[in-house]
Amino acid sequence: MRVSKLYAPTLREVPAEAEVISHKLMLRAGFIRKSAGGMYSYLPLAWRCLKKIENIVREEMDKSGAQEIMMPIIQPSEIWEESGRWSVYGDEMFRLKDRHNRNFCLGPTYEELVTTLVRPDVRGYRQLPLNLYQIQSKFRDERRPRFGLMRGREFIMKDAYSFDLDNAGLDVSYKNMYDAYVRIFNRCGLKFRPVEADSGAIGGSGSHEFMAIADSGEAAVVYCDKCNYAANVEKAELAPIVAPEEELKPREAVNTPNCKTIAAVNEFLHEPIEKSVKAVAYASEKGLILCFVRGDHDVNEIKVINAAGVSEVTMAPPEMLEAAGTMGGFMGPVGLDNKKTIILVDPTVMNMHNFCCGANQVDTHFINVNPHRDFEPTIVADIRLAKEGDPCPHCGGKLTEARGIEVGQVFKLFTKYSVPLKATYLDANGKEQPMVMGCYGIGISRTLAAAIEQNYDKDGIIWPVAIAPYQVIVIPVNTKDEASNAKAEEIYKALCDSGIEAIIDDRDERAGVKFKDADLIGYPVRVVVGPKTLAKGQIEVKARQTGEMTMVEATGDYVSAIKDVLNKEK
Ligand code: ATP
Ligand code: MG
Repeated sequence: MRVSKLYAPTLREVPAEAEVISHKLMLRAGFIRKSAGGMYSYLPLAWRCLKKIENIVREEMDKSGAQEIMMPIIQPSEIWEESGRWSVYGDEMFRLKDRHNRNFCLGPTYEELVTTLVRPDVRGYRQLPLNLYQIQSKFRDERRPRFGLMRGREFIMKDAYSFDLDNAGLDVSYKNMYDAYVRIFNRCGLKFRPVEADSGAIGGSGSHEFMAIADSGEAAVVYCDKCNYAANVEKAELAPIVAPEEELKPREAVNTPNCKTIAAVNEFLHEPIEKSVKAVAYASEKGLILCFVRGDHDVNEIKVINAAGVSEVTMAPPEMLEAAGTMGGFMGPVGLDNKKTIILVDPTVMNMHNFCCGANQVDTHFINVNPHRDFEPTIVADIRLAKEGDPCPHCGGKLTEARGIEVGQVFKLFTKYSVPLKATYLDANGKEQPMVMGCYGIGISRTLAAAIEQNYDKDGIIWPVAIAPYQVIVIPVNTKDEASNAKAEEIYKALCDSGIEAIIDDRDERAGVKFKDADLIGYPVRVVVGPKTLAKGQIEVKARQTGEMTMVEATGDYVSAIKDVLNKEK
């Protein structure tokens, strides 16, 4: 490729809406252009990178025994009605009608389609296990499309679905995909961690997310510094904290005028925050859920949803609190009806003695409250949000917090879809059994963005070699100098002939402009051919990742020398 021909329109000014570095750099360097919120055209450089990621994914999926297929982007509503998701998927689904007024959607995910695809054809146990995957655009009308390719409304995803005879088979398929994902993200040059993820009602270790570690990540993860435990904070389990034994004191109501926050109450009462309990109130389809955690802890909404067995929660309105006999700012577990209201208490609170909490009356708190003696919860469950410094649930080590970009997820579905969609097979005894399923996604376009979030400097992108748009750029410093121009053309041709993906900057531009553009786009290796060095019989080879410069003989086996520099890059 010749830079003079390359369609990579660069920008001097980046639109203000570009908040994260990958979005800014991809706009500036001419990789992508926006068509509508969360929808982008991929220009030649981005498309080359995406194809490379796709190919790595394809090779590793094929190696793992999965088979590539391609399903329609437009899906009929009937299959979603069958699974029960047509009405619950909500506004994230792009819906459309055909000329006969029939309902369709643009595929956000493919559990329904793939399950109904195999349903009529897979009948006997000998046809299983089976793993089918595809790589294509997915559509989700995200509430907040943002960060460029990180959270789009149209994005490229690889999705795979496994079908097994039983749970033991699913374990094998799951492990197989997990291992393939480790190979894929390693080959893409990402710094990543597989973390335990929330798997909703399924529970257990039913899901892992692959998190590219980056400060701009939307997810928070915690990992142990001693063992290899790592989890999304949504999921991270926490052992209850034991409070030192104390003699139980009589409960007392105290006046706490205008003390509506836990900090204000503690200051007013001169109590340490570890001796206080704070409340968070949620509305749900099962009514009011009052959650109680230690004053210095925070409530994890996902854990609340799982513990209470509800589908979602929203902040409880004041009328709801009033009807339950309490009010914002002064909520406490004492005196409430645990049958009418779900009183959900963190186990650490159940271990506390003589604590302070709201008294369900204006400007009043109780001190010396004790569990069992003073109140009975409806549910005791871990609802605490993990944070830096918490003990590891596996080994007791300390948890460290980091931000992550979810680039992939593996998930055990069990029979969640095969039962309602009636995807069954006949076992060896001729008995009908539901297929046991797993699903496995990788955000191809998000992975591209994540790679940039991890690899850039003030000058631009620093591509991992495996996914770079081109591996080597050859720059003749002065195209009017015939000798160096001819040498650059010769080197470019020799590199291409030896199978290296090379590009030559043949523009009649100043050297500074060419260097700037090369750094911005982030080619792993830059070869500079200029009259001064050439006079000494040399060319200059620079590695983008390390900045290391090597002088190479202009007439020797420079291809091998350039390859050596390239091979040292990651
Ligand atoms: P998120 O929690 O980030 O919304 P998700 O859990 O809904 O993602 P999955 O259904 O697990 O996403 O999709 C599989 C993969 O597709 C994700 O791991 C992610 O890499 C990618 N992905 C999901 N939504 C988007 C999006 N809006 N834009 C780009 N990639 C996405
Ligand atoms: Mg996910």
